[in-house]
Amino acid sequence: MIVNDITNLVGNTPLIKLKYPSEVTGCNIYGKAEFLNPAGSIKDRAALGIILDAEEKKEIGKGGTVVEGTFGNTGIGLTMVNNARGYKTIIVMPEAASTEKRDILRNMGADLRIVETLPYADMGNYQHVSKRLAAELKEKNGGNVIWGNQFDNIANYKFHEKTTAQEIFDQTDGKIDGFTCAIGTGGTLGGVSVGLKSKNSNIKIACTDPQGAQMYNHFKNNKLEVKGEPSETEGIGQYRITKNVEPSLVDMSYHITDHEAFALLYKMVRTEGLFLGTSSGVNVAGAMEMAKEMGPGNNIVTILCDDASKYYSKMYNKKFLNEKGLPIPSWL
Ligand code: PMP
Repeated sequence: MIVNDITNLVGNTPLIKLKYPSEVTGCNIYGKAEFLNPAGSIKDRAALGIILDAEEKKEIGKGGTVVEGTFGNTGIGLTMVNNARGYKTIIVMPEAASTEKRDILRNMGADLRIVETLPYADMGNYQHVSKRLAAELKEKNGGNVIWGNQFDNIANYKFHEKTTAQEIFDQTDGKIDGFTCAIGTGGTLGGVSVGLKSKNSNIKIACTDPQGAQMYNHFKNNKLEVKGEPSETEGIGQYRITKNVEPSLVDMSYHITDHEAFALLYKMVRTEGLFLGTSSGVNVAGAMEMAKEMGPGNNIVTILCDDASKYYSKMYNKKFLNEKGLPIPSWL
């Protein structure tokens, strides 16, 4: 295969049948291998979707600059797309994001600004800082600067509707009964739910929330209320109805603890040969909950968002795991 540009390799990821989760539930549980995207995560799709939309609207062109607030993966995806197009990338990231992600962004040539980890209600939160920075730069440069705005830019969920949902439907020959994933921006769940339901409204959609977030209670009890202690998973866990969460068509809602997610991730290293990042543990645990609720024989799809390599300082750090009371893989 020859491609003219690395961005042509975004998407079209395979579905992997997950042996252990399928066996114990009696369902067919599949994981969409998003860690195979060229910059390593599901967020390559959002990054490309946002840039293609801005180009189409003539908001950015040759020599342009992209500013974004991100926990890491969107920044990495954007830097890949921008480098391939000759755009400059400025990333605002909270200090709570893993050090591995900082290193990747700096080494890829992004202009990285680390800010204090503050709640969204605080104007010093990374999302607000990135918005202000983009506005200032746009004014100074007289245009050709965009703010990615992944949380509320609906180009994010639209790209998942067009690509991720379509691929899942085609790869299962339409024989899919359920889909679930966690919410960061909501782009994946929003886009896949809208896309799949438009093809077959009987397909069930579940939100799987990590501990310490509000989406579980939002979809289960119609209340924006936190459940559980803050999570050590990254890239997921939302407190508000973003513009990408808004269109989501959700039937069921599950809550997964860090303990469950980490234990399942270590288990799948052995049973599947899959070496996955934290949010994938939440997703697969959610798919297993969905399988239990729907009963044996159903085909359920979830997302394998990225691999473990960005989380060594947490997931494969015995001291950290001990401190947090999380399970420790036997081989560590
Ligand atoms: N997993 C990881 C590792 C992520 O970085 C993200 C994005 N923040 C997600 C899951 C959630 O995806 P989305 O933003 O589409 O809700």
